[in-house]
Amino acid sequence: MSENILEEIFIKRSQQKKKTSPLNYKERWFILTQEKIAYYEYDPDKWKRKGLKGSVDLEKIKCVETVQPEHNSPQERMFAFQIIYDEGPLYIFARTEVIRAQWIQTLKESKYKQIFFIVIHIFCRWYCKNMNRSQAEELLKSENKDGGFLVRDSSKAGKYTVSLLTKSACGSCRHYNICTSVQGQFYLAEKHNFNTIPELINYHQHNAAGMVSRLKYIVSNRTRPPSTAGLGYGVWEMDPLDLTFIKDLGTGQFGMVKHGKWLGQHDVAIKMIKEGSMSEDDFIEEAKIMMKLRHENLVQLYGVCTKQRPIYIVTEFLSNGCLLTYLKEGLRQHPTAIQLLEMCKDVSEGMAFLESKQYIHRDLAARNCLVDTNGTVKVTDFGLSRYVLDDEYTSSAGSKFPVRWSPPEVLLYCKFSSKSDIWAYGVLMWEIYTLGKLPYERLNNTEIVDQVPRGLRLYRPQLANEKVYSIMTSCWIDVTEERPNFQEMALTVQDLLYELQ
Ligand code: ADP
Ligand code: MG
Repeated sequence: MSENILEEIFIKRSQQKKKTSPLNYKERWFILTQEKIAYYEYDPDKWKRKGLKGSVDLEKIKCVETVQPEHNSPQERMFAFQIIYDEGPLYIFARTEVIRAQWIQTLKESKYKQIFFIVIHIFCRWYCKNMNRSQAEELLKSENKDGGFLVRDSSKAGKYTVSLLTKSACGSCRHYNICTSVQGQFYLAEKHNFNTIPELINYHQHNAAGMVSRLKYIVSNRTRPPSTAGLGYGVWEMDPLDLTFIKDLGTGQFGMVKHGKWLGQHDVAIKMIKEGSMSEDDFIEEAKIMMKLRHENLVQLYGVCTKQRPIYIVTEFLSNGCLLTYLKEGLRQHPTAIQLLEMCKDVSEGMAFLESKQYIHRDLAARNCLVDTNGTVKVTDFGLSRYVLDDEYTSSAGSKFPVRWSPPEVLLYCKFSSKSDIWAYGVLMWEIYTLGKLPYERLNNTEIVDQVPRGLRLYRPQLANEKVYSIMTSCWIDVTEERPNFQEMALTVQDLLYELQ
């Protein structure tokens, strides 16, 4: 079962699939998952979800957008948005503008991620890299299936060709160039346009639409990896030739991080792991688990390139970069109370997800969060510290150990848990409310290791009111059991946010 990303009661306008059906507005319980948006009947008295009334697969969604309120709309129908898919628009009203914005943004992101993963899976199968025309013909003829096809690089650089075998027309091969329209969309013989090549291929697997036959059978030169292959070749392994580099983003613990494109289309961040800086085999095992952690407030791991040195870690790219720098320099105006708390909320939700998977971050801090174009904060580098090969970083006495973000039990006994992450979360909140100050500015590491276990705590930042500060201090309770967990934290922050709005 897939995780629920968002849940909300919305008013839904009837879809008028039949012209004669009456127009009506009903409250429905909406749930968004990685795969679809579904809506249910619900019982408002018992606050209970009932039967499923309908659903739309994310891959069928064409667009999501806000809609102007209808003329003379009542108050509860002011914040409309629509989800366009092949059966028409799903017309929905949110209670507030913020909820509406949150759903639209999340829907867009989820859809994008879904396409991305479909792309990875499908490209493994029908795309034959570095194959020329005569090799394609040879392979198709050796399989000898009517409608057998593959996609290969065209003789023109950066272009792709579909090679197709039909038995009807004297058993010959045809080659169709994938063309690009002026709007940057892809099409084949007749002009059926698509945003991505996988979508185009998917369409022609069902429709000949101008070709001698539809694309019936995938013919591939990619043999499936044997399952015993030690560091197996799986969907987490990406082909480095599919990556292009655009610009250096900065240097971290493991070396250079670059902004690039995957398959010429998708923005990615590429960490080039400096040799000797990471225990690579252990990390590669871990990457398989990390790939499955998907949440809108976690920076998504897309894959790794491990067949060469340096190895690459390929992740989602966030255009506003590191949160710490963003707090210090990136905010164009003085941030509002809502903005600051939103950042805390974003982190608490990403962390609540990690906590629910029993995954410990171990190095939560503003420097390990990133900010996207919309100002959404996402947590990154979770669990990575375990693979650092640098005593200065891994030993609690080392100069790079995150002493300022560590609770007494970590400083004294190296005891990591989700509760030590909560402590770090409190410090991260403090970084947010001081716009990026160094915690315990005037103390060195030795003094902190000495004084925090004896009760020293961070002061209340000017921008934090008593309520906000009490959330921070609840993270710094000595007794781990009395510290809130992230699930509770996310709710507390959410409630306070509602009060502000
Ligand atoms: P490391 O984890 O190896 O220490 P960092 O995560 O600190 O490296 O990355 C170095 C810099 O690269 C960051 O400060 C940030 O500005 C940039 N960066 C890293 N990952 C991304 C990303 N996914 N999107 C955008 N910028 C990034
Ligand atoms: Mg980092």
